[in-house]
Amino acid sequence: MKRNLIAALVGMMACSSFSAHALGVTDAMIANDAKAPNNVLSWGMGTQGQRFSPLTQINTQTVNKLVPAWSFSFGGEKQRGQESQPLIYNGKMFVTGSYSRIYAIDLKTGAKLWKYEHRLPDGIMPCCDVVNRGAALYDNLVIFGTLDAQLVALDQDTGKIVWKEKVDDYAAGYSMSAAPLIANGLLLTGVSGGEFGVVGRVEARNPKTGQLVWSRPMIEGHMGYKYDKDGKATENGVTGTVNKSWPGDLWKTGGGATWLGGTYDPTTKLAYFGTGNPAPWNSHLRPGDNLYSASTVALDVDTGKIKWSYQTTPHDGWDYDGVNEFVTFDMDGKRMGGKADRNGFFYVIDAKDGKLENAFPFVKKITWASGIDLKTGRPNYLESGRPGDPTKGEEGKKGATVFAAPAFLGAKNQMPMAYSPQTKLFYVPANEWGMDIWNEPVTYKKGGAFLGAGFTIHPLNEDYIGAMRAIDPKTGKIVWEVKNSAPLWGGVMTTAGGLVFYGTPEGFLKAVDAKTGKELWKFQTGSGVVAPPVTWKDGDTQYIAVTSGWGGAVPLWGGEVAKKVNFLEQGGSVWVFKLSSK
Ligand code: CA
Repeated sequence: MKRNLIAALVGMMACSSFSAHALGVTDAMIANDAKAPNNVLSWGMGTQGQRFSPLTQINTQTVNKLVPAWSFSFGGEKQRGQESQPLIYNGKMFVTGSYSRIYAIDLKTGAKLWKYEHRLPDGIMPCCDVVNRGAALYDNLVIFGTLDAQLVALDQDTGKIVWKEKVDDYAAGYSMSAAPLIANGLLLTGVSGGEFGVVGRVEARNPKTGQLVWSRPMIEGHMGYKYDKDGKATENGVTGTVNKSWPGDLWKTGGGATWLGGTYDPTTKLAYFGTGNPAPWNSHLRPGDNLYSASTVALDVDTGKIKWSYQTTPHDGWDYDGVNEFVTFDMDGKRMGGKADRNGFFYVIDAKDGKLENAFPFVKKITWASGIDLKTGRPNYLESGRPGDPTKGEEGKKGATVFAAPAFLGAKNQMPMAYSPQTKLFYVPANEWGMDIWNEPVTYKKGGAFLGAGFTIHPLNEDYIGAMRAIDPKTGKIVWEVKNSAPLWGGVMTTAGGLVFYGTPEGFLKAVDAKTGKELWKFQTGSGVVAPPVTWKDGDTQYIAVTSGWGGAVPLWGGEVAKKVNFLEQGGSVWVFKLSSK
């Protein structure tokens, strides 16, 4: 034992990259993230995205003693939506804020260690607020995407830029808001901008240098590339077949933005990225399935080849982005993936081959399909649920308006769900709302909104829009639910302490019993919570953290929902909690 330790120390000293900082985040540590409670190294608390912690100090019996340890303000005049999940490593918290800011905070004291504020050009075009959802850690770097579509890698100790890469042209509508994913030694990122006719793609880079390794477009017809050590690109096969599921030239501006990033399962060696709406929203312009929009796409991380894909909304006409996180878990001895889609259905899919195992609604009203055919994997469309063709409308200007549910903001949106291997339940932050939607003629113009649709969102019930639901992936049953007046927009975490944590736009971080949904604790953070909580252990103490700051897509696009949220105040802070010693 002693000899091994000495050998390790000698090895460390011999390594030229060793300096005053810790050894750095390794692939092995990231692969073990979900099981190692002293760190939070990845978005999702493990690359599978289960957001389950094995920690038990804070549990159903003790959670009522949870009190603030410290709070940190993002400061400045810039607030708006704070959708970021903090990362925890080496005595530091790394947390991103709105407007492409990132902070390193001392875990013990809550004191600021450094801040990096990305200089943004005036012309950025985020569709849905100036949010950022988090960073990735690798070696001594902390890496995040910016609203002007760049990737920035900073030294964890100093906050100094180590590398910076332009991903795409912000003036064409590209931006970045998701946390990058580290999978098998590669940095995997997507792009935002589906409302501007961008082309969604997944890129792999060397996380230490930012150099591209491969890129895989998500819209059928586009060429994939791989890159050699000098950055020279060579063709790596077309995605699908040109014009097979898209007519004419529309695939060239076909959307499918990968704006929520991805998950990775080390047992299948596949990365799972969700893709957004096909562009434009007006579906009458693009007959066909419009692959691989509104899908989950499983990628071989070594080659960037698509291993399988499953399209949740073929020929989408409602902005039902299929971006939602694909969370892998074990069911009946098989590795499955669970996905709560914006379109209102929850899907259970074989993580290895993409075969649909189960699909059921997780909201009460769905107007566009009557169900999912488990044999073919396709939705049973209700054609009356599709907004009308503008060329058949009055003077060719506006098609027939239909009432559609869910609303385009989704039965679930960016807020990640959690899965507990203990209860075998998914915890899904759902919303019950609908919309009037109609189609209009539209042509693509670089940097312009590319929708061809108009809409007004309506709540479906007087007393609530949000519903925190415990869902059994095997039976499709909603085991319990907790209603919430405003739409839920924060993520979820569950723990071996038998708890489910989630935040509300009304400003509360709540803990409920994972088995029953009974509320056991809540704390008012001072602004709306639209971000997922995390937990870790330092020494003998378990901590919980969440960012607070109302914003995101709801106040921008919520229509009639505004009445339920327009009293909420903005903010920008991160809160940390531990059990009171009293
Ligand atoms: Ca969209």
